[in-house]
Amino acid sequence: MTSSQSNRLAHLPSVDRILRTERTYDLIEAYGRTEVTKAIRNALEEHRHTIRSGAINLEAAPDTLDVILRNVTTILSIHARPSLHPVINLTGTVLHTNLGRAFLPEEAIKAVIDVASSASNLEYSTAEGQRGDRDTHLEGQICQLTGAEAATVVNNNAAAVMLVLNTLALGREVPVSRGELVEIGGAFRIPDIMARSGCTLIEVGTTNRTHLADFERAIGPDTAMLMKVHTSNYVIEGFTSKVPESDLANLCQTHAIPLVNDLGSGTLVNLEDYDLPHEQTPMDALKNGADIVTFSGDKLLGGPQAGLIVGRKSLIAQIKANPMKRALRCDKMTIAALAAVLRLYANPDRLQESLPVLRALTRQPDDIQAQAQRLISHLTNALQGFAEVTAIECESQIGSGALPSKTLASAGLRIRPTRSDIGAGTALQNLATAFRNLDKPVIGRINDGTLILDLRCLDDEMSFIEQLAQLNLSPDLNPDLRP
Ligand SMILES: *Cc1c(COP(=O)(O)O)cnc(C)c1O
Repeated sequence: MTSSQSNRLAHLPSVDRILRTERTYDLIEAYGRTEVTKAIRNALEEHRHTIRSGAINLEAAPDTLDVILRNVTTILSIHARPSLHPVINLTGTVLHTNLGRAFLPEEAIKAVIDVASSASNLEYSTAEGQRGDRDTHLEGQICQLTGAEAATVVNNNAAAVMLVLNTLALGREVPVSRGELVEIGGAFRIPDIMARSGCTLIEVGTTNRTHLADFERAIGPDTAMLMKVHTSNYVIEGFTSKVPESDLANLCQTHAIPLVNDLGSGTLVNLEDYDLPHEQTPMDALKNGADIVTFSGDKLLGGPQAGLIVGRKSLIAQIKANPMKRALRCDKMTIAALAAVLRLYANPDRLQESLPVLRALTRQPDDIQAQAQRLISHLTNALQGFAEVTAIECESQIGSGALPSKTLASAGLRIRPTRSDIGAGTALQNLATAFRNLDKPVIGRINDGTLILDLRCLDDEMSFIEQLAQLNLSPDLNPDLRP
């Protein structure tokens, strides 16, 4: 250790002295003396570590007490916030599975609060004064929007697929094209789901080409159904061939077995009407002859996490009677939110304003560019001496496996670290950490030595700007301050 390092260490303020500085009074008022004392110890330890490691230029380092107090404030606010908390998604992926996918409209949030804070008629018919079915709150709306005869809803689309397979194909065979044996993020793999649902997967055709004759050969006395799976997160290009859905439907009819189509995202509107790339709707899938269609509630539909199952009445009745339905059912808050979101679809002309996911997906590049221009000076000021900021054009992704090969023209800010006293990699990590340590963490994406903030999903511009004053760019902030 150099003499200037030991000198610094020897002159660090004590916990007691920091506690007695006027600037901690407000912190003690807000968080209590015990928490503040713990945070001071934590920040001091961190600071000692930084000095010993030689990671800061001691001559140029800002006032020690300043640094420590700023870190104490950051530690306290991080510890005080719940484990699950809001973040600002500036990754450029609109439906980001790790960041909670769709965010709900006001109407849905109000509906959740209403049923959560009171008793409700969840499974009770107020008209008849007797037990009811929780699906009745959604079934009519879903049938109207999809043209299905019947519908039911479970916890998510993975559950929907399992329940359908387990009901209609337990102990029997299900042929699926080799081109559709997908893995969706988070351990949803068609072969594994099949096995756990108690069915035998029969692989049909090849990865790039599957023909009707392949399916014909695969059908035998043990075949329970044919299944189509949306290849949500990849595209197969080049010398490819797949069987038209109507041909599969005819084949199923000949053999008196159902055709099940797992759509994955499942939008309820024609996305081309909103200048977005085409995505098959459940309505189309049913028209093309599917007997059962499954899709997610929190992808393009823009609602809460849920799995929607629509199709033939007799099959839906079997699905509802499966004891697994009881284990996979939705809770009342989900039902309330989903019903509120579906109500917005009754007025498609307003949907672009009323449904946050569609609003984010259809934001025009010039609108986002204008926002980047408004923000650039605020960020430049907040990052003075640490980084330079430029407005850029970039590409957003829809996310959640929807339309994987299509991107949306967007705009954002590129933040390039300028500090030279620490390595470029460390400077970039410090920067990204500072944004993640904000009260409402800002999540961007790292690209080519810079931090990119894609502004497509930035709704609340004011609170984003206000938070910038809290950015803690001090060098010795441990990225792992989380409790
Ligand atoms: C996303 C997806 C699922 C899983 O849906 P969750 O709602 O996340 O459970 C299943 N199948 C396909 C094709 C998907 O895209």
